[in-house]
Amino acid sequence: MTSDCLFCRIVAGTIDARIVHQDDKVVAFHDISPQAPRHVLICPKEHLATLNEVTPAHEALMGRIVRTAADLAKKLGDAESGYRLVANCQAGAGQSVFHVHFHLLGGRTFTWPPG
Ligand code: AMP
Ligand code: ZN
Repeated sequence: MTSDCLFCRIVAGTIDARIVHQDDKVVAFHDISPQAPRHVLICPKEHLATLNEVTPAHEALMGRIVRTAADLAKKLGDAESGYRLVANCQAGAGQSVFHVHFHLLGGRTFTWPPG
């Protein structure tokens, strides 16, 4: 837990979020500024500033995040129509909160390449 990290505070429950899933390692909550009809953020409870900090010790954790995303996409009704799971690493890629998180977006058509 890093007290000046927004997502660590959500994990700790000291900042409110619309949590949709939580287990011992992962928390998922609605993005405050949704970019699609469904926009959920999935993050590890452990503070990792960027994906550059992921080590072999985090492989199971990363797998848990992907499985959680797939489960949530099913629950939210996007598994068949399609969804996007994306993580921005570093400011140059659009990362604005420096606690690793994956965006799960669904409910509209997505274009490729992303902006
Ligand atoms: P990124 O720009 O990839 O780092 O994504 C950070 C995301 O966090 C953005 O989509 C923001 O809208 C979202 N966000 C910022 N503050 C909050 C908050 N308090 N609760 C939920 N989502 C947030
Ligand atoms: Zn954090």
